[in-house]
This record gives sequence, structure tokens and C-alpha cells, in this order.
Amino acid sequence: MRVVSGIQPTGNLHLGNYLGATKQWVAMQDSMAADDECLFFLADLHALSQPVVPADLNAHTTEMAATLLACGIDPTRAILFNQARVPAHSALHWILGGTARMGWLSRMTQWKDKAGKKGETQSVGLFTYPVLQAADVLLYQATHVPVGEDQKQHLELARDIAVKFNSDYGDTFVLPEPFISKAAPRIMSLRDASVKMSKSDPSDASRINLVDSDELIAGKFRKAKSDADGLPGELAGLAERPEAKNLVMIYAALAGSTPDAVLAAFAGQGFGAFKPALADLAVATLSPIRERLTALLGDRAAVNGVLADGAARAGVLAAPTLAKVQAAVGLQV
Ligand code: ATP
Ligand code: MG
Repeated sequence: MRVVSGIQPTGNLHLGNYLGATKQWVAMQDSMAADDECLFFLADLHALSQPVVPADLNAHTTEMAATLLACGIDPTRAILFNQARVPAHSALHWILGGTARMGWLSRMTQWKDKAGKKGETQSVGLFTYPVLQAADVLLYQATHVPVGEDQKQHLELARDIAVKFNSDYGDTFVLPEPFISKAAPRIMSLRDASVKMSKSDPSDASRINLVDSDELIAGKFRKAKSDADGLPGELAGLAERPEAKNLVMIYAALAGSTPDAVLAAFAGQGFGAFKPALADLAVATLSPIRERLTALLGDRAAVNGVLADGAARAGVLAAPTLAKVQAAVGLQV
């Protein structure tokens, strides 16, 4: 089993990213067998599909790496690196650009959503983004790719590219399978449970950031939207109460429990009791992460050293596939 997954090195992570993505990565790393391999990368090349502030991209790469380490990614067990340090991603991306069809990319809903009516003024990189994603996973002959629902279509595209390449040039790529963790919850905004918790939400009160102080975390939960009713004994009773349901889901995800088990413990109690318990649980999980993060950011060179070491290991795994691809298409290198 070979797992490959990436995340863009944007600013601060929030509780939704942690419970929905990084915690799942750590769980995957921890359940690996001896001959399995987990590769986690910072998608700094993907970030260039939108305008960037160079100093920010550079700093965020280190900060995101530190965050992943603070969340429990262990570089002795998983390979942690940034894409740009492994030039084979770019090399394979270009070659796969000859295999991917314009029509396939035009049908990507993420492209359609982001480009809207302004497709002509978008970067070429935003359009070919899924080809780079295909290169990211095919380069390592990934068998399992953890993705959210929103990325499933891009993984199917990666499979289509692999199938066409294999048929045009001979068997080269393993077809990667999507791995959608049933445990990965979708955390909603603390202010409006109809939208997900997101780092681009203008309201900081809508999310818990991994860098928030204990007091801030408690305050945000205290002010989180809820209602005046008592909690029911099981999740089905929260169908019409999205804010209440979100807080219970967060509790269950943090506790590694199920919403029904949480409700069994809190049945009949109101948010006056539930919110402080939730805040305590969140602080108990997040404050050690925040402390590790602060310590790691005290030595940015060491964090970058972890990325460089990871890139060297990733490069070794990537080299045979890239060489095979270059030979298959007739390139002299
Ligand atoms: P943006 O608003 O800029 O899109 P984001 O908060 O959605 O930012 P991403 O960088 O898009 O964060 O996502 C990083 C990872 O976190 C992805 O794997 C994504 O599925 C996951 N994720 C993001 N938001 C949530 C959420 N609210 N609940 C669960 N998982 C989430
Ligand atoms: Mg997002």
C-alpha cells in the first residue's frame, strides 16, 4: 500500500482541517504496515495557480510543515516534503499534459466553479491543476489517495490519464484508488452551520484556529451559535438543529467517539453544560499541538531540514517511474 496526499501551504489551519484532514493522515501513518509507505507533501507548486506573495508562500511552506509535525506527522515513519523540492513532479506534469485532453479538464467542476465566466483571464495553471495532481500521485505509483468528496473528480481524472498513457505507451502506471475516510467529519462554521468551517471565512469567530489560545477557544465555543433546548439521547433528534448537531459532531470527533455515544452521556443537558465540556476537550487536544508548533517555529531551519530530507527520500521513490515514463515516450535524458 502506498498512500500519497497533499495540502496547499496556506496560512493557519483550523479545527476543520485538523479533524477532516491532518488527523486522518496521522491515523493513516500510524496504521501503516512495515512495507507500506506514506508520502505527504505541501503543494507549493499548486499554490502558484493563484497569485501569491512570494515571502508568504515561502513562510507558509515552513509553517504548514511545522503544523503537520505538531499534529503528529512523524518524519521517521512518513515522508514529508514540499513538491518544488522534487522536480520530477514538474517533469511528469509536462509529459502528462500531452495525454490529458482539453475536454476532460474543461469538465472539472472545480475549474468551472473557480473560473466562472472569467475563464479567459485565469492562469493556465488553474486549468491544468488536475494534471499536476495526477503527476503527484502517479509519480509514486500510489495505490491509495485520501481525498475529500470535492477532490474525487480530480482523482478520477488521474485514473483516466493513467489509463490513456498505459494504452498509448505501454503499461506504466498503477491506477490509484480514492480513499475516503468514513471517520473524516465535515465541520461546519460556529456562526452558521449551513457553511463549512473555512480559513477563507471573513469571521474569525466562525472557526477555531490551531494557534488560538485556550481562552480564545473557550470564548469561541461559548459564543458559538446553538439553541436553548436540551440535548436528545441520540443524533436523529438533532436533524432540525444544525448548529447543535455540529457541536456534537465536533465533540465526537475530538473524543474519537460517536455522536450517539456523546449524546447518551449528555442527554437532557443544555448547552450551558455542554459547551464548557466541549471547550475543555478542544483545549486538551489543541494546546499540546499549539505548544509543539510554537517550539518548532523557533527553529525554522530545522523544519526546512525535515522537508529537504523528505524530498531526498521522495526523489528516490520518484526516479524509477519518471525514467520509465521518459523512456516510454522516447525522450533522451
Ligand atoms: P479555503 O477556504 O481556502 O478553501 P479550507 O479551510 O477549505 O480553505 P483547504 O486548504 O481547502 O481548507 O483544505 C485542506 C484540507 O482540509 C482538505 O483535505 C479539506 O478537505 C479539509 N477541510 C477543509 N475544511 C474542512 C472542514 N470544515 N471540515 C473537514 N475537513 C475540512
Ligand atoms: Mg477549501
